[in-house]
Amino acid sequence: MTNTISLLEDLIRIPSYVGNGCDEAAIADFVVATLSELPGNWSVECQPVDGTRKNVYVANSADPEILLTAHLDTVPPSDAWVRDPFVPVREGTRLYGLGAVDMKAGLATILSTLRRCANTDKKIAALFYVGEEYDFCGMKAFASSSTIAPRLIVNPEPTDLLVYRGCRGVLECRFSVEGRAAHSAMGKDGVNAIRVVQGATDDLVRRLAMLPDEGLGVSTVNLAWIRGGLAVGGEIVARSNVVPPFAEAVIEIRIASVLVDEPFVLAILAESIERAGGKTTAADVSFRVGPMVGPSIGNTPFDVFATGDPKATGYFDTQLFVESRGGSAVVCGPGPSAVAHQADEYVDLRDVERLDEALGRLF
Ligand SMILES: [Zn+2]
Repeated sequence: MTNTISLLEDLIRIPSYVGNGCDEAAIADFVVATLSELPGNWSVECQPVDGTRKNVYVANSADPEILLTAHLDTVPPSDAWVRDPFVPVREGTRLYGLGAVDMKAGLATILSTLRRCANTDKKIAALFYVGEEYDFCGMKAFASSSTIAPRLIVNPEPTDLLVYRGCRGVLECRFSVEGRAAHSAMGKDGVNAIRVVQGATDDLVRRLAMLPDEGLGVSTVNLAWIRGGLAVGGEIVARSNVVPPFAEAVIEIRIASVLVDEPFVLAILAESIERAGGKTTAADVSFRVGPMVGPSIGNTPFDVFATGDPKATGYFDTQLFVESRGGSAVVCGPGPSAVAHQADEYVDLRDVERLDEALGRLF
């Protein structure tokens, strides 16, 4: 445990946000140096991702059964920090610093468990990857190139030590609608494109409700952004006396059912828009990752912790891996998760100790 805390303090001292000349290169080098002390049957590989940014992978077998994962990056420090985000400070059971809970504590715990239990006879690998807080570039690069097929993936992201074995997926879609302009005094001659967008979103909500999943509930829709009105000289403007012939929206679906894919969503939107008298002028799914519902994995050292509600979270990096390589995932890490991405972030060291014990029992 002492080793874990001193590793965590070292990790906090190395800024690993992305931007302003900073990235994950220095922390990746630190991780490589730490892993180089492991005995000979462990091998360390780096995967270049983008410029100086790289994933670090360590394994004691070519076909590991267990994969531990942690992201190397943090969000950037905000101006709201009262403390120095890169100076670890311990106060009672709290350790303050940027990334303390999200997720350098998980990262430190994996590193110290690897050192402590290096002589294990289990086939184990660990992946330390870049870009989780930004665009998932690290996990995308690893998942698309890796050939390993571990049966268990363990990700100690901050969860207040609740165990998550699945979560809903996500699909992001932007679409635009052409209606028909009319004078507002003769509104029934027009097709209000803004209302068509709303109606299509409502139809989508109704159709998704017919496809519930036992564990993940129903897929939900967030109408995240909308603009509409009349196109004048390349601008969309408000004309209160004109039924708006143009609208554009971005929606995000939290996917509970594997059946909710790009063709399914686009077909419902197109049908609804047409029925309302509008025309779909563009529809594009920019991102989709399916729900994570791995097969049951039997007993794990994490069974001592309570189970979290899979409807309330999303772990897309782990999902990206499970979607391409299979296996079952356990997401379980220290808290308080509510201070992740907040100024003066800290981790509860009692949680770190319990995670340390649980990870040790995996080896
Ligand atoms: Zn995180």
